[in-house]
Amino acid sequence: MKFNTKTIHGGQKPEEATGAVMPPIFQTSTFAQSSPGVHKGYGYARGANPTRTALENSFAAIENGTHGFAFSSGMSAIDCVLRLLNPGDEVIAGDDLYGGTYRMFTQLFKKYGLEFTFVDMDSVTNVTDAINERTKLVWLETPTNPLMKIADIEAISTAVKDVNSDILISVDNTFATPYLQQPLTLGADIVMHSATKYLGGHSDLIMGALIVKDAKLADDIHFIQFAAGAIAGPMDSFLALRGIKTLHLRMQRHCENGKAVANFLKNHPKVGLVYYPGFESHPNHEIAKKQMKDFGGMVSFHLKDKSKEATFKFLENTHLFTLAESLGGVESLANHPTTMSHASIPEPERLKIGITDSLIRLSVGIEDEEDLLKDLEQALNR
Ligand SMILES: *Cc1c(COP(=O)(O)O)cnc(C)c1O
Repeated sequence: MKFNTKTIHGGQKPEEATGAVMPPIFQTSTFAQSSPGVHKGYGYARGANPTRTALENSFAAIENGTHGFAFSSGMSAIDCVLRLLNPGDEVIAGDDLYGGTYRMFTQLFKKYGLEFTFVDMDSVTNVTDAINERTKLVWLETPTNPLMKIADIEAISTAVKDVNSDILISVDNTFATPYLQQPLTLGADIVMHSATKYLGGHSDLIMGALIVKDAKLADDIHFIQFAAGAIAGPMDSFLALRGIKTLHLRMQRHCENGKAVANFLKNHPKVGLVYYPGFESHPNHEIAKKQMKDFGGMVSFHLKDKSKEATFKFLENTHLFTLAESLGGVESLANHPTTMSHASIPEPERLKIGITDSLIRLSVGIEDEEDLLKDLEQALNR
């Protein structure tokens, strides 16, 4: 199946009892057994629920994996990956990460004896140079949130596996979605999503996903998911599955509108630097072109006037771009990373990589392009 078919049919079949074309919402915690231990594949819903199974099969299909897992949030999916490791193990991660990921690494898992090294993933040798005998996981995010940096998934996976094939490569694919890039096909072991964002696509749920292509890794992840219990509920699973059915259509428009907004901002006299991997001037444009089908709907930028007053005035005056946390929904959103999504990163760390108070991040939705540009124009001219 091609991708546009997989979003609709991948891992799906009509429900067996009634033929329902859409999976019913199995709002149940438990399942009847005819004799102790004898059931129809479902025992207790922390282990598995048919609505969640339908979604997890869809996750696996769209990411070219064999096993998918739906978690109660993106963070609980990341938490599960880190629980694969043992105290004393080391993780190499990119230096520009979603703020919550950085917080979990440095404030939660450091406490349990994991060590983290943050490197600029722009260069493959930065990653391989940081490997030592305790390295067990390389954590990639590409494009990054919020600076839109691009890491070469295939080159990094190959180089890391050349040094030690046991090191796991995990990719946070939230920004790109499998419509744009499929990390398992590029050599990664684990794909992670905040399904809250593009996969769900309608800003109506919080959910995480992991997808793998190795049976042993799948067993380990299922054990942690079952033992720790951070599962997605049946109603949310239904909504996410419904969202995925239009992922390809939404992403196409997100990419078109994202391109229009990036170009509009680049040419606007009041706008300074614009971060968008589709520009030839982006430092890793060639890698983006190679590994992504298009460049997505996320654009970050600074105004030329970098004062807090000017930045806040812009953010207070957009109408269609709602000032809010999150991204990836059908509606356009504007975000101020240093007070919102990335407030959990200490200021010195933020400044080191360029997340300053004048940075603005846009999640460009699927509204009419002309209306979006008009909204930005009027907010820039206030
Ligand atoms: C939002 C986000 C997360 C966290 O996911 P939640 O669903 O909010 O728990 C992780 N990574 C990226 C890139 C995100 O944007």
